[in-house]
Amino acid sequence: MKKATPLTLSAPEGDSAERLQAITRRAAASARAGGHKPPALIAICKTADADAIRPLLIAGHRLFGENRVQEAQAKWPALRAEFPDVELHMVGQLQSNKAAEAVQLFDAIHSVDRPSLIAALARAIAGSGRRPTLFIQVNLAGETQKGGVTVEDLPALLERAADAGLTISGLMTVPPADQEPSPWFALLAKLSRRHKLPLLSMGMSGDYDIAAALGATHIRIGSALFK
Ligand SMILES: *Cc1c(COP(=O)(O)O)cnc(C)c1O
Repeated sequence: MKKATPLTLSAPEGDSAERLQAITRRAAASARAGGHKPPALIAICKTADADAIRPLLIAGHRLFGENRVQEAQAKWPALRAEFPDVELHMVGQLQSNKAAEAVQLFDAIHSVDRPSLIAALARAIAGSGRRPTLFIQVNLAGETQKGGVTVEDLPALLERAADAGLTISGLMTVPPADQEPSPWFALLAKLSRRHKLPLLSMGMSGDYDIAAALGATHIRIGSALFK
């Protein structure tokens, strides 16, 4: 009889780079099982300082997300000097008066959700020569405390963006907490097909495998990496 191979440490017990690898693998397997391509993993750093982020950069990871402009400004210029090919995504609520700073700092913005922000982004983009990838955040359940446009108002917001000369590439959502997420992810996927938007930002530490199986192109992972 063959002796059992001792288990190597991996997620969730390993270090952050090992956890990242395990999550990437699990998401890819779920995506393939659902007939989709593996999603990109955005490491969400809102609870992580530069010392916690650096091991992932050293391991070769380049895709990161923040949810506040000011925090990102404090952390990333120095890290980017060391790792210039980093791609930085804004996933949190964005105030219109921070649009210009966000356009300078971020390569993608996932939280476009209202006409005033579209106007501010259009001005900032025109003045900067930069073209961040834009996602519209959809508040699928119409939760009042949450950002995002309602399903009802999504078509009008897409028109607003087109009129302002902005290309919207995808949709993003944070589904209601404490509910089975798959119907919400399926709904977001349906909306993205209806509006012919190629990118789908959905799935966090607790549900990324379900999101990947339903066609997420970007999963946003925080606490499972930086616990
Ligand atoms: C914090 C955050 C995440 C990551 O959530 P975890 O559950 O920690 O993986 C993803 N998306 C948004 C918008 C967030 O604010």
